[in-house]
Amino acid sequence: MTCVEEIYFDYNASTPLDPRVAEVMLPALTDQVGNASSAHRFGRRQAAAVELAREQVADLVGGTRSGVVFTAGATEANNLALRGATETVASSRDRLLISAVEHASVRRTAHRLAELGLAKVDVIRVTPGGFVDLDALDGLLGSDVLMVSVMAANSETGVLNPVAEVAERAHALGALFHCDATQQVGRLSFDMAAVDADLVSLSGHKICGPSGVGALVCTAAALRQLAPIIEGGGHERGLRSGSLNVAGIVGLGAAARLAAAERTAESARVSALRDRLVTAIQSRLSGVSQNGDTTRRLPNTANLRFAGADAEAVIANMDPVAVSAGSACSTGTIDPSEVLVAMGLSREAAFESVRFSLGRFTSEADIEPAAQRTAAAVDYVRAMLSEGA
Ligand code: PMP
Repeated sequence: MTCVEEIYFDYNASTPLDPRVAEVMLPALTDQVGNASSAHRFGRRQAAAVELAREQVADLVGGTRSGVVFTAGATEANNLALRGATETVASSRDRLLISAVEHASVRRTAHRLAELGLAKVDVIRVTPGGFVDLDALDGLLGSDVLMVSVMAANSETGVLNPVAEVAERAHALGALFHCDATQQVGRLSFDMAAVDADLVSLSGHKICGPSGVGALVCTAAALRQLAPIIEGGGHERGLRSGSLNVAGIVGLGAAARLAAAERTAESARVSALRDRLVTAIQSRLSGVSQNGDTTRRLPNTANLRFAGADAEAVIANMDPVAVSAGSACSTGTIDPSEVLVAMGLSREAAFESVRFSLGRFTSEADIEPAAQRTAAAVDYVRAMLSEGA
């Protein structure tokens, strides 16, 4: 029996650290000492490294250096965008509009703000293809809306939202537009000036950088409308106190520089591999369909439904090929993916859906063994379930 090598197809959960990024981070982790806020030469050296990274991150998203607020990741960036804007809101604007497929760090933050009586929240439905429904947005927008938050690319389906159209509509009513671009910035170009986004969230470990570091990139006007959610020594223009994670920030900057230089070529290569994988799986199995629009989605993602095969069981039988299901286990019960259900899939279909997400270190040699393993796992689970039926 041949042993299948480990294959990692879960880049949307976390990407491997690029060795070139690790190399840049190493001196910051080992040789370099000092707090980036200190006035002495050690501190100044750290601050200079942080400022270079600030520029690299701004460049990745078409923002300005002074608009970059470093955070502990996209979860914190999303919290800062929603909470930070809500706290300073003039009382005439107290509504937040979020799409039905946002990450939990947007969704739960918005609902928490509503529970606290700080905001009213409306959810913008999505189309069966997974796009935010612009007619529904039009129906919800009004002069009492503080912020519209719609992600650039969905982590489960890869579907790309019409974010420039969302921004235009939000601005026409005087609302801020926040865009969680975590899944897009490392894979496809994203220019916040062209999109006209006011606040953009991103994360290191989705762009082959380190985890535990990210940023909220803001326009100058949006910065002035934010209140801090972490109080302390006043770092990051008072918006995010705490001694800076210099090694992480340097790594985020290096990852941003590489992504900006390589994402176009990398995406062409990875999308060809993703398409070959889907074809190879479909040639071995019947009853395979793709969730979400396949014409406007990330180049690395495929969300496949295997009819009659429970995704959790399939995934357990696919080891050592790593993929994921959108379902979340909470308080002992497994819930289907909220994203897929919001797109109109039945609970059953959502429970049969598996996300494959490829990336920088995926090679051609991964495709056939992974397709074989997937087919074997689905066949096995279907046989088991029909025996048990
Ligand atoms: N937003 C999106 C779209 C994501 O995919 C993720 C990570 N799964 C996050 C936010 C949270 O990022 P982090 O892990 O950096 O907190």
